[in-house]
Amino acid sequence: MQCYNSTCLSPTIGVAPQIFASALQFFAATQCLLSEKPVPDADVRNLEKFDFIIVGAGTAGSILANRLSAINDWSVLLIEAGDDEPVEAKIPVLNSALLKNKKYDWAYQTAPNGKNNLANKNESVNWPRGKILGGSSNLNAMIYVQGNDEDYKNWYDAGNKEWSVEEVRRCFRKAESFQDMKALENPVISNHYGHNGPLIINTFNSTYGYSKKVLCAWDEMGIRNVEDLNEANVMGSGIMRATAADGIRQSHNRAYLNPVVTRKNLKIMKNSFVTKILIKNLSKTAYGVEVRRKTRKYRLLAGKEVIISAGAINSPQLLMLSGIGPREHLRAKGISVVVDSPMVGQNLQDHILLPIPIYGDEPGEKSVADQQFAVIQYLYNRTGSLAENRVANVLAFYSENKNATYPDFQSHLHIIWKNDSNLRNLLGNIYNYKDQVVNPIVKMNQKHAIYMHAFNLLHPHSKGNISLVSNDPYDYPIIHNNYFSDPRDLESAVTGIKMLTKVVNTTYFRSVRAFLGRMEWPACNVYELDSREYWKCVSVNMSVTVYHPVGTCMMGPDPTTSVVSSRLKVHGVNSLRVIDASIMPNITSGNTNGPVTAIGERGAELVIEDHMRASESRNIGERNAELDIEDYTINK
Ligand SMILES: Cc1cc2nc3c(=O)[nH]c(=O)nc-3n(C[C@H](O)[C@H](O)[C@H](O)COP(=O)(O)OP(=O)(O)OC[C@H]3O[C@@H](n4cnc5c(N)ncnc54)[C@H](O)[C@@H]3O)c2cc1C
Repeated sequence: MQCYNSTCLSPTIGVAPQIFASALQFFAATQCLLSEKPVPDADVRNLEKFDFIIVGAGTAGSILANRLSAINDWSVLLIEAGDDEPVEAKIPVLNSALLKNKKYDWAYQTAPNGKNNLANKNESVNWPRGKILGGSSNLNAMIYVQGNDEDYKNWYDAGNKEWSVEEVRRCFRKAESFQDMKALENPVISNHYGHNGPLIINTFNSTYGYSKKVLCAWDEMGIRNVEDLNEANVMGSGIMRATAADGIRQSHNRAYLNPVVTRKNLKIMKNSFVTKILIKNLSKTAYGVEVRRKTRKYRLLAGKEVIISAGAINSPQLLMLSGIGPREHLRAKGISVVVDSPMVGQNLQDHILLPIPIYGDEPGEKSVADQQFAVIQYLYNRTGSLAENRVANVLAFYSENKNATYPDFQSHLHIIWKNDSNLRNLLGNIYNYKDQVVNPIVKMNQKHAIYMHAFNLLHPHSKGNISLVSNDPYDYPIIHNNYFSDPRDLESAVTGIKMLTKVVNTTYFRSVRAFLGRMEWPACNVYELDSREYWKCVSVNMSVTVYHPVGTCMMGPDPTTSVVSSRLKVHGVNSLRVIDASIMPNITSGNTNGPVTAIGERGAELVIEDHMRASESRNIGERNAELDIEDYTINK
């Protein structure tokens, strides 16, 4: 637009500028439609007693607060370190604006090990985690993937009898309210999803044209297009489902907390950090928590249970601070050992993300007018690029074996328009690459668009761990991601990457004169582009994260090899459970917010079942004395 930045020179009688200004004012005012009342911050007294205390109002914690407080007789306290969400969390494209903002993101970084991620600043990978009502469901990219049946069969076969494929699938459906009008016309897809749950599942209000062309290309190379990836057991390629509707994020606080904040038996503390679980030494029974809110310290008591839903990094940290963890490690940090639980903080699994730059002639540059119009479009009817994720709305799941029913690899896609002003932020700030990596790609982008395939290895053998720096709860824990510590992962990743780079030979990519670009790094520049050695070097030096840490309080029957039982009770401690991403024995196929939702739903059922059974047995007089929760958990 040529007159952009210049003054208007035409004569006017004032009417035209007035209607233009009034329309712009009108659109500016519609942003208020996005705001919601803040969640009331509970008034609590020191030593106040609740039936349940839940630590962390994230994906899992929000579900627990909703389901447990549905039982009128129970009092529930939900404690969250973060605050209400800002409006940016609701607008799909703006989630990355919250990353590294320490009010809303814990902004963890992995520990350097001198071998991996040498191309990243500080040789470490950014690991954001939501510190906000809704937790990481309010920071994430809203991609809704349920995982493959085989994931849950593996959990079940490892001795976790509450987690059969059927039970997990039922819990997905319990959570979901599937609202994609077109897909609902297909009975197979419609039956696959739930329809009456709190969490709206839809597709982005999307106007992408280019991602459809990539879908065709993936299909041509053998990653077959499917109508619904979840129904297809996450094999093939297709449009992603999203926890977004009408252009607005459907976080777990929006879905599960906001509708129930007025319940009299539910209190929510915001900006409140739990520093310790209180555990009776002799009976090893959890009976409350220590909390800090601003300058005040509280001890709050739980009559039935304490439930930790602080996520895959903070849950093991809190257990260790409270004396539950590997004995020697706790002693070294001056923490008295309540239970020697060697697997706390171990078994850390994550999905790596390796960007593969494929350059092409289209799309061209976005004009300033296009970018400004997108904002108006969003304010007008919640469509356009603000209503979409920054990642394109397509996914590919594939395996080396073309007939496989279990995916080995996943790819996301970033479509980066020519000369995109956000690219430097993505590479340098979010992926945390050094300038030597960033500059050549930004320079290439001046002339070419990029179809950045974000490759991910779905089932890594490598395991990391989380440990304490000290016994100070405010010290961030040490995160060793240990990517590629198991050599099988490197071989497997290279195989998956090389399958993906073949996309340049497909009809569409040939038509835009696509070519694979180099990720410049001195140690890797000596290898031929696209050779196995080149990809090994790039993978080791540049793999970042898809933000899926899990497994650090893993579930299993044996206390020496797991942290919680199949009913999510902490081994060796009564009245204490962990319910969040950390309980996964093995990481699922794809993005983890959906599976953590099923964990939250199943976890809530297990808590309710256990306590209902206890009160039934009390009612039918099996026990005369008032049931003591300590006796109950011991005798069960
Ligand atoms: C940037 C990003 C993008 C992602 N994109 C996707 C995606 O598109 N699709 C997908 O499926 N998954 C995605 N994920 C992963 C997914 O969001 C997580 O797996 C899921 O939200 C984890 O849920 P959780 O309940 O285990 O933990 P969280 O949702 O992280 O909740 C933990 C909560 O506990 C609070 N807390 C922690 N410690 C304490 C304490 N001591 N006291 C009080 N409160 C505490 C935290 O502040 C937080 O609110 C993404 C994650 C991130 C960070």
